[in-house]
Amino acid sequence: MSGGLLASDTRLNQQSYYEASVDRGPGWALLAGKLQTDVAVVGGGFAGLCAAIELRQRGYSVALLEADRVCSGASGRNGGQAIVGYASGQGPFENQLGEADARRAWDMSLQAIQVLDGHINRFGIACDRVNGYLYVADSPGKARTLLADMEDTERRYGLKADVATGADVARHIDSPLYHAAAYETTSGHLHPLKYGLGLARAAQGLGVKLFEQSPVTALQRGPKPVLRTAQGEVHAAQVVLAGNCMLPEFGPQVAPEIAPRIMPVGTYIIGTEPLPPELCARLIPRNAAVCDNNFVLDYFRFSADHRLLFGGRVSYTTQTPKNLKEIMRQRMVQVFPALQNVNVEFVWGGFVDISMNRAPDFGRLGTNVYYLQGFSGHGVALTALAGQLVAEAVAGDSQRFDVFARLPHRQFPGGPLLRTPSLALGMLWHRLMDVVR
Ligand SMILES: Cc1cc2nc3c(=O)[nH]c(=O)nc-3n(C[C@H](O)[C@H](O)[C@H](O)COP(=O)(O)OP(=O)(O)OC[C@H]3O[C@@H](n4cnc5c(N)ncnc54)[C@H](O)[C@@H]3O)c2cc1C
Repeated sequence: MSGGLLASDTRLNQQSYYEASVDRGPGWALLAGKLQTDVAVVGGGFAGLCAAIELRQRGYSVALLEADRVCSGASGRNGGQAIVGYASGQGPFENQLGEADARRAWDMSLQAIQVLDGHINRFGIACDRVNGYLYVADSPGKARTLLADMEDTERRYGLKADVATGADVARHIDSPLYHAAAYETTSGHLHPLKYGLGLARAAQGLGVKLFEQSPVTALQRGPKPVLRTAQGEVHAAQVVLAGNCMLPEFGPQVAPEIAPRIMPVGTYIIGTEPLPPELCARLIPRNAAVCDNNFVLDYFRFSADHRLLFGGRVSYTTQTPKNLKEIMRQRMVQVFPALQNVNVEFVWGGFVDISMNRAPDFGRLGTNVYYLQGFSGHGVALTALAGQLVAEAVAGDSQRFDVFARLPHRQFPGGPLLRTPSLALGMLWHRLMDVVR
């Protein structure tokens, strides 16, 4: 096991608000001995769990191997924002696949939210699901961009939003920072760890064999793939790799060819003490999840128990920025001066799997190994879709999966720790643009 991301303090030792607000229960045993299955899934985040559920529903026997604990990666740490569309926007789909496939990709991003809600409803997952999403812009230039983007998205793809500028923005958010805001109800938010643990229990209920503390260190490819862990092995007809940024860490030899196609970017969240409900209702009247349109973006929302969960900052090295809690608190107070004196009780972080063009990276290695990665900070909803698409592909219908598999992806130069100075400089440039635009 390499030191890299696992040795990084980006994930922070302190418990996240999410971990502090769930009871994980005893968990699942590690894999010991030999197991035969139709499909082996590597990774117990949303993508792996959704794939396992969808595969099981199609009648396959499924074993899921998680290196750590279920949803200990990005899935149990994220902002909980279930967002329509892609981090890349529609650009890569329109430019590289054409209008028809771009339209299909957009429609699938809508279906992603339906699939997510389908899981929540079907399995009765209590995960504080809320509809409503607010896009905001913190300068006149970015306001023009936001308005143009929203108009374009409505004209081409039919997404309707309630747009406000100037003083009217206060209808949506009580902050001095924003010049424009756009509210829509297709997207929304949830408690990601409650959702993820609900998925894991649902998978188990359907008969998926789940194993925790079972890093897959080797994958023997061929007509009958074999996955190896320290104490066991799984013989499968087909394999789904859903290990995200941690796959090269836990199993550097498993699929080294896909590792350079994503870059791990550290991002952080603080959680305040519970706030008076009437204050929350004043600050974000419709309880939307909020996100600005900066390259290095702020994203925030209220939890069900009225804490502000405020995310932002990124690290393109694996090091947590110094004074992180204070830096994030200051940014939160810029957005909401009314929160000047509230206590910040939680701070945590995690790695987002960014692809070069920010579009998801789904594909195959040979004929019987599939991979899902590159959600680029938009994985809460898209992983539900990804699980469905890969299950369809395993079952022989890869039409929808192949819309994504056809998208060309480039490799990042340098290793996963982004030692390449040119790239770090590129990111610095984007942050500078956020300030001057
Ligand atoms: C701080 C933060 C905030 C975010 N906010 C949002 C948001 O608001 N909205 C949004 O849409 N997205 C957000 N994201 C992104 C989102 O969380 C991810 O896109 C999504 O969770 C990815 O799911 P996954 O299953 O692919 O990966 P993960 O959840 O990382 O799961 C991968 C799992 O695979 C396991 N694994 C890796 N290698 C192996 C191996 N060799 N053997 C066995 N197991 C292995 C890991 O331990 C891990 O549990 C955020 C991410 C972070 C970190």
